[in-house]
Amino acid sequence: ADDRALFSLNLSAELAAVSADPELIALQRRLQDALLQDQLSLVFQPIFDIHSLHLHSAEALLRWRHPELGEVSPARFIPVAERSDLILELGRHVLSRAAAQIADWRRQGLEPVPVAVNVSGSELKQCDFADQIGGVLKEYAIPGHLLRVEVTEHGLISDFARATANLRAAGELGLGIALDDFGTGYSSFRYLRHLPIRALKIDREFVAGVDVDARDQRIVRAMVALAHSLRLKVIAEGVETESELATLRRLRCDYVQGFLTGRPMPAAGFAALLGARGCGG
Ligand code: C2E
Ligand code: MG
Ligand code: MG
Ligand code: MG
Repeated sequence: ADDRALFSLNLSAELAAVSADPELIALQRRLQDALLQDQLSLVFQPIFDIHSLHLHSAEALLRWRHPELGEVSPARFIPVAERSDLILELGRHVLSRAAAQIADWRRQGLEPVPVAVNVSGSELKQCDFADQIGGVLKEYAIPGHLLRVEVTEHGLISDFARATANLRAAGELGLGIALDDFGTGYSSFRYLRHLPIRALKIDREFVAGVDVDARDQRIVRAMVALAHSLRLKVIAEGVETESELATLRRLRCDYVQGFLTGRPMPAAGFAALLGARGCGG
């Protein structure tokens, strides 16, 4: 409890500092405009079976191209959006764009793979979170299993009960749920116990250099054992070299995502990947 008090103290100090920062306020305003002026788009990064390298799914990642600032990284603007309700608008935008894209691929005669969207903690606090998902599934006439949700441990801390209820409801709509950036957040075991999770995504922090770092190998091995004993799949994130891939195979990871096997790409590029699959995909 002391830790938690200390944490929220730090957090509010941080928030106070941020709201006084004119540069961040300006960025927030620009982001609001970005939504209105359609400067935001999604790119799709392929996730492959680590052994067969068959296409398994995609992660949708938000991109912002500002006319003067150029490309702004989500690592920069998502935290800014998270300071206000802007993140809720962004979240709805991403969800509906992802569903629209899936529907579009189907119209092109392609058989889409599931697309995972990243969901922030504050989105999980909304009472109508599952209704929003149900709404887009209906609007774009796609089955729930073609959408997935990625949540971070960090995103879950503030209203665990509500987040759990929302993720369960999403699960009932057919969505698979993955715990993102696994190993970098708080009290993971509690989440594993209560959430209807289907996969763990091992953060790049443990993946980069895993081929040469014996300690990272032991950590990944333990994460995989934990995941598999709970019947969860393991996705290794941020794989950049053949040697990391070989090591992660040996450590029994199930899926691979990274610059080595495919960078995040626009929908048209991803359509080519979908089209290139053998019969039945
Ligand atoms: P994330 O969900 O963990 O996404 C994976 C990040 O790793 C992406 O960064 C991706 O481009 C990057 N990545 C993939 N493979 C490699 C690799 O081999 N090497 C390296 N160095 N990086 C790799 P990105 O697109 O910049 O996104 C950063 C973070 O921003 C995401 O981390 C996620 O937390 C957040 N984000 C992105 N899009 C959204 C969104 O639509 N909604 C929300 N709430 N957050 C988002
Ligand atoms: Mg993610
Ligand atoms: Mg991640
Ligand atoms: Mg990350």
